[in-house]
Amino acid sequence: MARSQLTEEERQKIRDSLKATRERRQNQSIKVIELKVNCHHTSKETFAKMNNCFRQAKWIENDMLAWSEKCDGNNIFKYEYLDHKKITRKTFEGNFVEESISLPVYFHRALVKQVKQDIMNLHKAKMKGNKTGRLQFKSEVNCIPVITGGIRIIDNSHVTIPGFSRLKVYGLDQLSEFKEYEIADGRFVKKADGYYIKVSVCIKKESNSRKKNYKEIGLDFGIKDNIITSDGEKFNCNVQESEQLKFLQKQLHRKQKGSKHYYKLLKQIRCEYEHLSNKKTDETNKLIHHLTKNYDIIYFQDESISEWKKKKHSRKTGKKLNCFSFGRQIQSSYLGRVKAKLVSLENDKSFKISKWSPTTKFCPQCGCLNKIGLNERTYHCDCGYSYDRDIHAARNVKLFGSTKRAECLEQTSVDSYASAALKA
Ligand SMILES: [Zn+2]
Repeated sequence: MARSQLTEEERQKIRDSLKATRERRQNQSIKVIELKVNCHHTSKETFAKMNNCFRQAKWIENDMLAWSEKCDGNNIFKYEYLDHKKITRKTFEGNFVEESISLPVYFHRALVKQVKQDIMNLHKAKMKGNKTGRLQFKSEVNCIPVITGGIRIIDNSHVTIPGFSRLKVYGLDQLSEFKEYEIADGRFVKKADGYYIKVSVCIKKESNSRKKNYKEIGLDFGIKDNIITSDGEKFNCNVQESEQLKFLQKQLHRKQKGSKHYYKLLKQIRCEYEHLSNKKTDETNKLIHHLTKNYDIIYFQDESISEWKKKKHSRKTGKKLNCFSFGRQIQSSYLGRVKAKLVSLENDKSFKISKWSPTTKFCPQCGCLNKIGLNERTYHCDCGYSYDRDIHAARNVKLFGSTKRAECLEQTSVDSYASAALKA
């Protein structure tokens, strides 16, 4: 139904419910759980239908771009899904064919909304000064948004999504750890090894009562040992790619591009990568769990791990690489994931300090800044202080972090006091 057809009363109702949801979400935190469609209990017809969904999703997204390009006057924001039940698509040979969309309306509407949102996000990024391109035509679409209310859970192994009633899935046991939860929106995802449903679950926020003497820890991200804590614990954050993957990649080079065997191998390689990525996520979760279980607050430095990866490319320019030539080593590490996870825990269990803090140079005993070469493994200061290089850095991260955090806490308490005084 178009918005103009709603009466004033109905609009008010929508506004009220949106407001109520927004208020409820403030006391909730969101977790995403991943469900995998059980391939042994799903018929061939259902799989064909799912595949068709993703094919049509691609048609719709490309049609939207083509529609706005065809006539310059066409504003993509005026594209309504109801007017485009039939779309034209370009075939492999370059002909244009008209196709009617049989995709569930829920998906169709959400896809159109998603593309509009993508354009708005690009615009926002451009306004911020980032370098942006424009939306490109896609060769495949692997993710369809599902709006709130689209996913229903029937029992402990079945869910319903638009167009598919009663899908048997793996992974619903993840819900059992929450006492109270609310299902929000989600995503229907196609991966190399099957179909997945990602569900956002809203759970009640835990009240973080502040303990008197809580345990603190500082982390230093290094190349050799990857993560060193201020207590001297070392974690190796590497997942090696399997022999099978190397073998498959060699095979792929021998096959003719575009042949049947080529695509078969490509699919196998994607599955292997999927497996590798899952392994990394698993290790990350274990590491973070270990830290959050034993410590109340984790300090870490905002180091740009993606920059480390980039250094590899200077090989092209022929410039002599500096000491940070560890491209390959970083590729197999899950350091970036650990950092991302720590960032998501900020304000609660972790605290970030600036990447410009002189954690390696600073001497905690006298406050001097001493230069230390990359090959030196121990830190020496003229005042007599010396320590293992990495642990020294981690201890400084902890020191800087706790000072900075104390300042921040003080500031917020002053602010809240001031605002309370203003109100009174
Ligand atoms: Zn010193």
